[in-house]
Parts: sequence; C-alpha cells; structure tokens
Amino acid sequence: MAADTVFTKIIAGEIPAKILVETENVIAFPDLNPQAKVHILVIPKTTEYDNVTQLAAADPALLAEIVGVAQKLASEHANGDYRLIFNSGASAGQTVFHVHAHVLAGDLEERSLVG
Ligand code: AMP
Repeated sequence: MAADTVFTKIIAGEIPAKILVETENVIAFPDLNPQAKVHILVIPKTTEYDNVTQLAAADPALLAEIVGVAQKLASEHANGDYRLIFNSGASAGQTVFHVHAHVLAGDLEERSLVG
C-alpha cells in the first residue's frame, strides 16, 4: 500500500485540481508543471499501487482503464495522438509514489523518445 501523497489529497478534495475526467476508479487533472501543450495526469483512486509494475500485476483492467482515459483525453484536447509515460522509481524521475500516467499531447516533437 502506497503512503499518502499529494494525489491522495487531490482525490479527497483537500488540494484543488481541475478534474477533467472522473470515473468510479480514476481521475484525471492537468499537471502543475506541464511539459507539453497538453499534459494531464491520470491516476487510480486507490492508493494501493505506487508504480505501474504493481498495478499491471494486480489489476490489469484498471491499467487498461487508465490507457482508455488517456486516449479519450488526447482526442478531446489534441488530435488523438499521445505519449504515455509512467515514471517508475526515483532514479527514473518518479516523485509521487501513487501510480500515475502522464498523458502528453499536442505539438509533440515528431520523434519518439527512443530510437
Ligand atoms: P512523477 O515525477 O512522474 O512522479 O510525476 C509527478 C507529477 O505530479 C509532476 O509532473 C508534478 O508536476 C505533478 N504534480 C505535483 N503536485 C501536483 C498538483 N498539486 N497538481 C497537479 N500536478 C502535480
């Protein structure tokens, strides 16, 4: 079980965020420090998983829901193309240990991050 984080407070409404999507299981809101024209975080409401590896192993349907919400947001806020990033581990840049997808879209450089 992940410890309480800033995202726990957003889920509880204790820290304000502009909720763009809310389902029974997930919420999405803009990243405070956007790295692209569209930069939205999609997070599960459960605090059970601190990274995507744990989430994928325990609840693949919830991971699939996060991907579906990412696609919907990219279609609503950009042209439907998107980059999906899960930083996993501190040395990979993860700062909030409540699993979250970064959805980046709109005016992305036309190259992938690798290759
Ligand atoms: P990561 O570095 O992958 O753990 O991503 C954490 C993200 O959370 C960073 O991109 C932060 O900008 C973002 N963040 C932190 N606090 C907030 C907040 N209150 N509202 C929205 N985004 C936040």
